[in-house]
Amino acid sequence: MDKQQDFVLRTIEERGVKFVRLWFTDVIGTLKSVAIAPAEVEGAFSEGIGFDGSAIEGLTRVHESDLLAHPDPTTFQLLPWRGDVDPTARMFCDLTTPDGLPAVSDPRNVLKRTLSRAADAGFTFYTHPEMEFYLFKKGAPGEPPVPVDQAGYFDNVPGGTAHDFRRRAVRMLEDLGISVEYSHHEGGPGQNEIDLRYADGLTMADNIMTFRTVVKEVAIEQGVYATFMPKPLAGAPGSGMHTHMSLFEGDTNAMYEESATHQLSQTGRHFIAGLLKHSDEISLVLNQFVNSYKRVWGGDEAPSYVAWGHNNRSALVRVPMYKPGKGQSARIEHRGVDSAANPYLAYALMLSAGLKGIENEYELPPEAEDNIWLLSESERRALGYRPLPSSLDQAIGRMEESELVAETLGEQVFSYVLANKRREFEQYRAQVTSYELKTTLDII
Ligand code: GLU
Ligand code: MG
Ligand code: MG
Repeated sequence: MDKQQDFVLRTIEERGVKFVRLWFTDVIGTLKSVAIAPAEVEGAFSEGIGFDGSAIEGLTRVHESDLLAHPDPTTFQLLPWRGDVDPTARMFCDLTTPDGLPAVSDPRNVLKRTLSRAADAGFTFYTHPEMEFYLFKKGAPGEPPVPVDQAGYFDNVPGGTAHDFRRRAVRMLEDLGISVEYSHHEGGPGQNEIDLRYADGLTMADNIMTFRTVVKEVAIEQGVYATFMPKPLAGAPGSGMHTHMSLFEGDTNAMYEESATHQLSQTGRHFIAGLLKHSDEISLVLNQFVNSYKRVWGGDEAPSYVAWGHNNRSALVRVPMYKPGKGQSARIEHRGVDSAANPYLAYALMLSAGLKGIENEYELPPEAEDNIWLLSESERRALGYRPLPSSLDQAIGRMEESELVAETLGEQVFSYVLANKRREFEQYRAQVTSYELKTTLDII
């Protein structure tokens, strides 16, 4: 028994914890949970807890269905919304086969593999996401959602739902060991944003899963409905999960170079070049739903073209300005990934694309200085800003041909994502929407 496991067992005892939830994530990014009794935790550490992986999206093929969940003791936390009486705790798990091999289909394992590739190259990967989401009034299923307010970007809404909501959510996140840097009303009615303080890639992916649960729990508590759907309202901004990324070599920020343009090091330039070059292939994972493409192509500050820029909010990748003397906070921001992505798979692919740029010394194209949305199609073409996939269908086609994605996700997750997304697109295509009826029924 290692020290961390020992600490967990002691805390369970001292705090009188009655349930321990074991958390993991399916390939689409849905949180899964099984509660075990405190007496089972020691066995879970030594042997794992068995379950039928074939019943969970994408985890196994039916003929090899048994998996074991091994709790990671460093992720032990009490769940604040369950209260102090008979407390409930949780730990994230790593999944293995019965022979103890890492389950190739476990998204957490996909990210861990990629992080260790980065570590082999001498890098630690840090991220911080800007989490956008909508709050709606509770309505009947299928009815168009009604926002909780009509406020906009940074609005202060006296006595409004959003203030109480953010206050409660931020407190809960802090109780769970997740630090928050900023929180504010976002551009859409009922839309909010909470920005998490940076952490290493794996911790952050776990934090994002926890964040989504916290937001849903607080919404239930406050009688509203929270969603991370990428574009819930036509004509209002979508919800992105802009992610700031940096690479550290020991204590040194490898993206920083004082004398370079924008203080962006050669490593940083190659990393961005990798993200741009592979952006079409990884789009299916960063923007994984039919609805995601309504955000990407719906305006309102979601990037639609492959380009980078310094402080340019129309670019897919932005190099933010930071305060003089704060070189350690140098980072790049990816603005494409949306709020509904599986964070383990999305971060694995973003890192992998960036590393590929470093390994192969990809050259960074010139930066976009103009507002890309205001250019004409031919101007964009002349400047080399190619469009991102315009639909789920197109994104499927791009990923199908990607060696980088197949290598990073592993064959099983790669095939599963493609099959799942083909099914989603076919179901979508089979719909006759009210838009079509409105515009076409009467004209012929
Ligand atoms: N909501 C926008 C998006 O979908 C981003 C707004 C912002 O710059 O924070 O990406
Ligand atoms: Mg925002
Ligand atoms: Mg941003």
